[in-house]
Amino acid sequence: MGKMDWEQSEGKWITHACFFACGGRCVNRSLVRDGKVICQDTDSLHPDSPDYPQQRGCARGRSLRHAIFSKDRLKYPLKRKHWRVGGGDKELRGRDEWERISWDEALDIVASEVTRIKNKYGNKAILATGYEYRNVIPGLYTAPSLNAYGGCTVTWGQASQGAFPLVANSMKGSYDLGATDFSDRYEIRKAKLIVMWGQNPAWSQAGNPMYHYLQAKKAGARFVFIDSWFNPSMQVLADEWIPIRPGTDTALLLALAYVMIVHQVYDQDFLDTYCVGFDRYHMPSGAPREDNFKDYVLGTYDQTPKTPDWASKICGVSPEKIEQLALEMATVKPMTMRASQAPARTDNGARFVQAFYTVGWMTGNVGLPGSEISAGGSAGNMVFGGPPLVRSGSKGCTWPANPLCQPPRGGGMLAKGNYDPEAYYGIAMPEVWDAVASGYYHDFIHGVQPIDIRMIWKIGDGGRMNQNPNFSRAVEAYRKVEFAVASDLWMTNDARYSDIVLPASSMWERDAEVLTQINRETLIFAQKVVDPPGEAKEDLWIEAQLAKRWGIDPLLIQPLSTKQMSFNELLGAEVICENGDWEPLIKVTQEDLDRRGIRGTPHEGRVPLDQFLETGVYQVPRHEDDCFGHVQYADFRADPESCPVATPSGKFEIYCEQLPLRFKEFGLSEIDPVAHYVPARGGYEEAHACLSEKEYQDKNDLKGQNFSLQCISVHSPNRSHQLFNNVAQLREVFPHDVWINQLDAQKIGIQKGDFVVVSSKSGSLVRRAKVTSLVMPGVVILGQGAWSMLDKDGLDRGGNANTLQSSELTGEGHCTWNTTLVRIDQWTGDPLDLDYLMSFDGELEETL
Ligand code: SF4
Repeated sequence: MGKMDWEQSEGKWITHACFFACGGRCVNRSLVRDGKVICQDTDSLHPDSPDYPQQRGCARGRSLRHAIFSKDRLKYPLKRKHWRVGGGDKELRGRDEWERISWDEALDIVASEVTRIKNKYGNKAILATGYEYRNVIPGLYTAPSLNAYGGCTVTWGQASQGAFPLVANSMKGSYDLGATDFSDRYEIRKAKLIVMWGQNPAWSQAGNPMYHYLQAKKAGARFVFIDSWFNPSMQVLADEWIPIRPGTDTALLLALAYVMIVHQVYDQDFLDTYCVGFDRYHMPSGAPREDNFKDYVLGTYDQTPKTPDWASKICGVSPEKIEQLALEMATVKPMTMRASQAPARTDNGARFVQAFYTVGWMTGNVGLPGSEISAGGSAGNMVFGGPPLVRSGSKGCTWPANPLCQPPRGGGMLAKGNYDPEAYYGIAMPEVWDAVASGYYHDFIHGVQPIDIRMIWKIGDGGRMNQNPNFSRAVEAYRKVEFAVASDLWMTNDARYSDIVLPASSMWERDAEVLTQINRETLIFAQKVVDPPGEAKEDLWIEAQLAKRWGIDPLLIQPLSTKQMSFNELLGAEVICENGDWEPLIKVTQEDLDRRGIRGTPHEGRVPLDQFLETGVYQVPRHEDDCFGHVQYADFRADPESCPVATPSGKFEIYCEQLPLRFKEFGLSEIDPVAHYVPARGGYEEAHACLSEKEYQDKNDLKGQNFSLQCISVHSPNRSHQLFNNVAQLREVFPHDVWINQLDAQKIGIQKGDFVVVSSKSGSLVRRAKVTSLVMPGVVILGQGAWSMLDKDGLDRGGNANTLQSSELTGEGHCTWNTTLVRIDQWTGDPLDLDYLMSFDGELEETL
């Protein structure tokens, strides 16, 4: 049956959205017949063009119905069979049997265990994990009922953003993903050179970004990619691939700076006017003049010029290539240089961020059409910037805040240096499982302190057990605490290792929601598609029932119905006019309100409510040279005196005095005021510490060496973090193999398709090997987000990259996923099933 047949068949098309942790929020539509989803479509609501692009989703969003209706979807409250007050046999967590129980029994157990633990150990002993993608309360990273009941411990630190928020906020006064830190999508078409540093938008920013990059390519831009593998985006866009060893990007950047300096091709005027700290003549008052960036690069005081020869030995890029790239970057204008956060998700990632901005600013590509020095872009249809052109209204209610522990996440208050030294901030995310298991954590401000976590409560879709570093330690942590509860959609690891599992409803099963505004041109009203399965309930209903049991007014937790909240957002939505004024998006009458049983005030607007709801999508019409364009830092470039950036000097701070101070406050690692190269823990130098370069090249047998391969974990096209891993169709289309260069494979005796064991100091997993020339020698690639499945020997048969990852802390508490050393050995056990034949409905249980 063709698409037109589906369009004409009986049933109703309902617009909703992909709501998962990629953050993209692409349009999704379902044909619903007799309460069943017959098929899915993405945005086909209007003809597609580069100026007025459809908000199309990727394969994951188009597979939502397989996730929503999967066999392992949780439908009833469950209790671990051998659970007893205090935990019972805690070693059975993760492999015990389940018993179906009533909601009343489940809620009574959770309520009484929370009260018992709170009274005996205090609220600090309760750890809340997870994040907000399913939660209807954006930005609230914990359960509101717990907040009203005295609060709980939460985590801080950076996952996706790596070292960027702290360093960017310090050096340039902002780190504003998806808004002012990027130029408008039309600007990329003006760039003549586009340098993509660690970027793979085809996989990590699925949705429209590749489409916009293609327009730039059609307009004649040359694309240069710098990465450790020939990633799928390069197959479409790249004019040149420059392979680089993981964790050595700073060395390459310093050598680029060296070439620009000795050839005098950098933009001295820009540096003099808009930056501090590049050379001895432009240092902040009081700062040692010899500590400037230029003299460090030239080796004036340390006697080590950061020449292309020096860098080449570290990063693997030839001196000739470094010279050529530096000259091209400095002379071809306009240039856009974009980094993903991946090179900053390393042990020395903060130094990469410093060097990236510094070298970008040396070229002067800031604040002019087609020019951009930027980083980030983590999701769907964001990536390109500018202030919103359409925005939602407020939900019309607030929730209790956590009175015990501040929630400083996502480039938030800690990254901006705006914190209270007396406050409790909880546990750094990378070490959370280590802290629970060991009883010690690194307290922000006060250093290593004891911590006594007795209970873990997982809310939202996120899944910290699987997604935080060191899965084996997570199992230890879960088997240590007295009580663990998870509200979830599926039997994820967070649920599997809990005592009580509460089945939550998904966004497809709620009344409606205006999705978080991250795409500046589009507002999507995600409408209810089907009823919740079995006895699944909304998060806020669950929370309100618990609050009642604690004597708290449930209206504090669920002040409005979800329907009323969503219509408040929709009816309060505004769209920008050509003169810059805002007008209501929706025209609503009293009859509209009465018919839907919602409260509100009738008002005029651009689109009548009924008409809007036919599609549920509003997209601002755009054309080239319209009045909605945005050039990153255009105001600052035009008038740095009147429009300074938010740093102490009002300029970009190449020499950043506050950065070492901030690092000292965190107490996890150190940094210099200007970009220096320091080898990473788990980096190239450590991999080769026991071998000279020649010995490494000559070595025929890698098996004799411990952990000499550098493993980077990448976003996969089949998962959004851990979400969608239970969709067999996606697992079949995008196999979760470990990619290894054919030269390394040859040394170990691995053939394409062999199963191999990948081991680090933290754990081991088994995967099928993809032997390929698309990844550089010495590097292996593993997609992140697969669900761990430990066997009786502790081997992870699910292939979770976090099984390999250590809990080491650095910077502002960011994860160091891309400086992880591994070894690879042949799998010698029984033949293994292929990924898509693995089951997540309980058939393949852990067999400890
Ligand atoms: S890009 Fe992200 S939001 Fe869009 S369909 Fe894919 S997973 Fe969903």
